[in-house]
Amino acid sequence: MDNGHNNVAAVGTTYSNQFYTTNFKSSYRLGDNHEQVAILKANLREYRSKTPSYLWTGTPSLENNTSTIFDSATEENLKVFQKREGLTADGIYGAGSRNAMHAVIGVSPKGWVRVFRSTSAYINYNDTSTGLSSDSKYMLDHSWVTSTTRDTLYDLGYSFYQKTNKKIEVNDCSLIDGADTPEHQTHMNGKIIDIRNAPMTTTEEKTFLEVAVAHSNVQKVIFKTNHGVSSSKIVVDTSGVHDDHFHVETYN
Ligand SMILES: [Zn+2]
Repeated sequence: MDNGHNNVAAVGTTYSNQFYTTNFKSSYRLGDNHEQVAILKANLREYRSKTPSYLWTGTPSLENNTSTIFDSATEENLKVFQKREGLTADGIYGAGSRNAMHAVIGVSPKGWVRVFRSTSAYINYNDTSTGLSSDSKYMLDHSWVTSTTRDTLYDLGYSFYQKTNKKIEVNDCSLIDGADTPEHQTHMNGKIIDIRNAPMTTTEEKTFLEVAVAHSNVQKVIFKTNHGVSSSKIVVDTSGVHDDHFHVETYN
């Protein structure tokens, strides 16, 4: 069981460890001894092999360093990774670093792709500091979708931006391996995207509904209201579950 991380070093919390019967730490740092540290080193070796060598001048090699000890070489390599990926270079591997590692070397056994960390069309809320802290209960990366769904998301973001000058915020999609997730009943097929409406005005919410139902790959949108938009694709849910986001399902 990869429990939502696949080939990338896993992080976890009391809650996610209970759910998946794992023993992941919420972060790994200098001096830690954990099986996931050996995976982190392999991830860093792979990342290093794919990036220009000048970035690594003076950084100790991790070749043949396969132990489970988070040593100073691991810390140095991690800092280079963090700096290049726009993270705080503190040498501590937590959910933010895991997300960035997923984005650059994560392999989905389902063949899915990761929602881009940032684009001109949308914000991946999972990669923002507020998104990361609001996900602190389980620390899972719900950023994975089919490539067609990612294209659809890009279209939705672009259309919405053209009408509102504002980016949509992407919240939970699926886990890298399609594993069951304690935070959602569905979201296991790579074809579901939650979009936050927190930054939207009522008019913008309506605009998003119009943009979404107009897209040929959008099958269904669940939201608290249809704002008068008449479409069989909209499912109104007054239970409160869909007050803070649009749940968007695609065909492919
Ligand atoms: Zn949803």
